[in-house]
Amino acid sequence: MELFPLPAFSDNYIWILHNRERALVVDPGESDGVLAWLAQHGLQLDTILITHHHADHTGGVAALREATGARVIGPAHEPMPEPLQRVSGGEHVDALGLRFEVIDVPGHTSGHIAFYAAPPVGEGAPLLFCGDTLFSGGCGRLFEGTPAQMLDSLTRLAALPGNTRVCCTHEYTLSNLKFAQAVEPDNRVLATHAATCLQQRAQNFPTLPSSIAMEKNINPFLRTAEMAVVRSAQTHEPSTTPDAVSVFATLRTWKNTFK
Ligand code: ZN
Ligand code: FE
Repeated sequence: MELFPLPAFSDNYIWILHNRERALVVDPGESDGVLAWLAQHGLQLDTILITHHHADHTGGVAALREATGARVIGPAHEPMPEPLQRVSGGEHVDALGLRFEVIDVPGHTSGHIAFYAAPPVGEGAPLLFCGDTLFSGGCGRLFEGTPAQMLDSLTRLAALPGNTRVCCTHEYTLSNLKFAQAVEPDNRVLATHAATCLQQRAQNFPTLPSSIAMEKNINPFLRTAEMAVVRSAQTHEPSTTPDAVSVFATLRTWKNTFK
């Protein structure tokens, strides 16, 4: 099974998973690049997975379905390009011989879902397609959800196996890590990882997929229980209390205007 992040727009990735014959794509915001890539690699599109309703994740769905006949699977509770199979947390999707578990992750949008699959032993680390929920070093903006909802969603993702490959939809890593370093200037793992990512971007390589284990070490939004993170949040916003939701809310608001 092979995994490829196809760049789209200015900073999106359309993840393509394939077995050299059939392919699955996640959140195709556009179709031309996907169709060209599939043709170039001699792949038949089997399945389109959608995490949430934003146009940069759904804009290519109708054209891809039309051109390939692929089935479309997306969230139960979001406006979607019909027709499609709608799924929500606790359900399963079988595709390319893998069983994907659907996880409800509201916060960025109210019906946002993620897809998680653990391939058989020896066939690669587990995969998480999490859209705009968990980013490397950060998380999605709260357009339709509360801090408590998003924290809950991220906590569910953080409980997945450490070697899970985090396949999120945007290359926001460098700006996220800059913020993370403002929150945790003394985090050595973070500093080392930020240097690595800078080098990768300088060569135009993706910084993704990340892993759950790495995110737990570097992503301030998964580290709201760390004393250093609590103290930083309280320094930035003195009304912050030490509980995780309050720390998370302060970090999210701080990041919205951080440069
Ligand atoms: Zn979005
Ligand atoms: Fe997006």
